[in-house]
Amino acid sequence: MNAKHGRITSSRKTGPSYVRIAQGTLDNLTSPESEETPSLPSLLIRDAHIWTEHRTIRGSILIERGRIQRIARKISAPAGEEILAQGLVALPGLVDAHVHLRDMRLAYKEDFTSGTSAAAAGGFTTVLDMPNTLPPTDSGQRLLEKARRASKNILVNTGFHVAAVGDRGAVKTMKMAGAFSIKLYLPKPIAPLDVGDDLTIVEVLKAAKEASLPVTVHAEDAAQIESTGEVQTFKELVGSRLGRAETSAVSRILRLQKQIGCRIHFCHITLPSSISAIGNWPSGGLSSEVTPHHTLLSEDSVEKLGWKAWMVPPLRPRHVRNRLFSEMTTGNATIIATDHAPHTIKEKRLPPQKSPPGIPGLETAMPLMLTMVNKGKLSLGRLVSLLSTNPAKLFGLSSKGRLREEADGDIILVDMKKKGKIDPDKFFSKAHYSPFEGWKTQGAVHTTIVNGSIVYSNGKIIGKPGSGKVLRNGRRE
Ligand SMILES: [Zn+2]
Repeated sequence: MNAKHGRITSSRKTGPSYVRIAQGTLDNLTSPESEETPSLPSLLIRDAHIWTEHRTIRGSILIERGRIQRIARKISAPAGEEILAQGLVALPGLVDAHVHLRDMRLAYKEDFTSGTSAAAAGGFTTVLDMPNTLPPTDSGQRLLEKARRASKNILVNTGFHVAAVGDRGAVKTMKMAGAFSIKLYLPKPIAPLDVGDDLTIVEVLKAAKEASLPVTVHAEDAAQIESTGEVQTFKELVGSRLGRAETSAVSRILRLQKQIGCRIHFCHITLPSSISAIGNWPSGGLSSEVTPHHTLLSEDSVEKLGWKAWMVPPLRPRHVRNRLFSEMTTGNATIIATDHAPHTIKEKRLPPQKSPPGIPGLETAMPLMLTMVNKGKLSLGRLVSLLSTNPAKLFGLSSKGRLREEADGDIILVDMKKKGKIDPDKFFSKAHYSPFEGWKTQGAVHTTIVNGSIVYSNGKIIGKPGSGKVLRNGRRE
């Protein structure tokens, strides 16, 4: 490895390299080029191995005004800032379509700054946040309030999913306010909704179709989840949510989707049989998501680690996990998302029935998956598809997910050789625990560039809160 790699030089002395979205009306969030936007400095990445669709080429990337201006073998144009990237691989910035950034009344678990710092450290230049916050994101007004708050605090680009609601007008308003999908949480609706009734679900699917929004589904059938009254251990708790809850929910939603024809994205699928039932995206408007934890861990971890390995849907038996991993590597699953779901350790340590499900995932996904690439179990091309190209395409982020001229300046530099160990104490997330604690990794995110500005480099957050952009569905800001 070249000793100089990753060195950053700067000829720019002062000035914020970030864009603030002014507080105020919806118009402030909608205008594609706000007059208050200062011109962004240029950045030249020199001598990287650049991932271009199917292979890497040696070359340089010039980013100007937040977009990729040129990709060429040699670029001699002067730039405000230069990165000598010898020995590093340049990939399109990762897109995590499923994160819980919390904030507001749940800021003690995570807030926009800590969550998006974790994203930047993990190589994610774009995240889509889930609506089960306090208050929940269940109206246009609440979405705008959340977006305004985020605009001052985020370090990476952030968009928002909204809760499924019964009112069609509200779905339309949320779409206008920039929602990326309607989240249908079948085990326990986020906003009041009788999810046991097929007619209610049909109404949600119809409203989504009318608003041209996908429905993101947490597919576990509440009727198939056993009561946890007598549960003493996390292993028993996992035993109360068996795979049949997923099978039942997936087949029900597929049956109803056939009638309506809206787009459905199935979140955190745990069973290979579900992936087969959903089929291969983009045909049929159906897509699937897998997580690093469901593809790398099994029930055995629950027995060993208890609360650290408690999430929903829960981890599955080893043989199921192995087959799910294959569904991911062969490209039958559409995307990888982390389902980053931070809690405090105090909450997690409560007795099993009271312990909130969820683990942080933004800072572990990439080192874990790069390790799989280094071991020859996953191709780099597939990884880029699963973590960047496909999620960008799926959620209409047409200027992201690929390294090419005119695309957004969202780029990560990866050191494929760097060895490390998962250490939750070092997380930028507020949630300092992980079922992957102590795992040895090879391959790490070295630098994260968002909209042409360096946000993370060599273990340090460089970006300022507010430097990320709030994304609105269907618009290139
Ligand atoms: Zn989730």
